[in-house]
Amino acid sequence: MRIVLLGAPGSGKGTQAKKLAAKYRIPHISTGDLLRAALAAGTPLGVQAKAAMDAGQLVSDDIVLGIIRERLRANDAKKGFILDGFPRNIAQSQSLDGMLNNLNQPLDCAVLMDVDFDVLMQRLTGRRTCENCGATYNIYTNPPRLDDQCDRCGAALRHRADDNEVTIGNRLRVYDSQTKPLIDLYRNQGRLEIVNGVGDEDAVFKRMLTVLEPIAKGMRKPKLPPLPPAKPAKAKLPGKSAVPMKSKPLPVKPLKPAAKAPPKPPAKKAAGKPAPKKPASKPAHPKKKSRKPAKPAARRKAAKRK
Ligand SMILES: [Zn+2]
Repeated sequence: MRIVLLGAPGSGKGTQAKKLAAKYRIPHISTGDLLRAALAAGTPLGVQAKAAMDAGQLVSDDIVLGIIRERLRANDAKKGFILDGFPRNIAQSQSLDGMLNNLNQPLDCAVLMDVDFDVLMQRLTGRRTCENCGATYNIYTNPPRLDDQCDRCGAALRHRADDNEVTIGNRLRVYDSQTKPLIDLYRNQGRLEIVNGVGDEDAVFKRMLTVLEPIAKGMRKPKLPPLPPAKPAKAKLPGKSAVPMKSKPLPVKPLKPAAKAPPKPPAKKAAGKPAPKKPASKPAHPKKKSRKPAKPAARRKAAKRK
């Protein structure tokens, strides 16, 4: 089973991912964790990522994708994976599809853990952590018996400074605006499953299984992503060609089909030799080489002008 798990901060995504990983014996691949591990291990991609971070830049998609690809080679990922933290936007999802297709391991679906904004706010702003033993509470949903005091060890409970409403509200809105197009994309492709993420974790997990069991049992075939109009795949270079980064190859105007270039062969004396594509007759203007598809007509015109 190969899935992408989507959900806002506070949606409980991490918890569910762990439970799913245990149930299906597939790895929970959190790109945040992966990246940290690659940095720590100093792998080539980790080194690149570190360079970007040291320069104050975001780690590029192809580095992240490369790290994911390496992770997928491990034996434990043969049966599938739960991807968490990537993709976050449409371009990334297309890159991911490209890579998974090359590996012949298409996604089964994307699962969105759906939790209302207000509930997320409550979960996130209500968090309290014991400074001593690490126990966690939520003053709304799982309060300690005594205010600000750990049930287990009696130590003071901490409220992280950035767990305030303004900061968290901003984080959620940013997440929402960034992820919405991605969610819409998966929905339009018929590859989105939505699981209600409100309630205790076992209840949510049951809902997850309702969605995922048919996939696990092979009763549902993965729906293949509509790939961007096939560039004649240079499948040999898994390094880059698999990953059409940044430049969205959206199927816009297929101007000038270069492939069927010479519509009318230069109708001169088309007798003897099969006309070579490039008018070898005149060695004119070698500079102009860069204009490859060499429309004979245009060139003749240009020649006349001179
Ligand atoms: Zn404690």
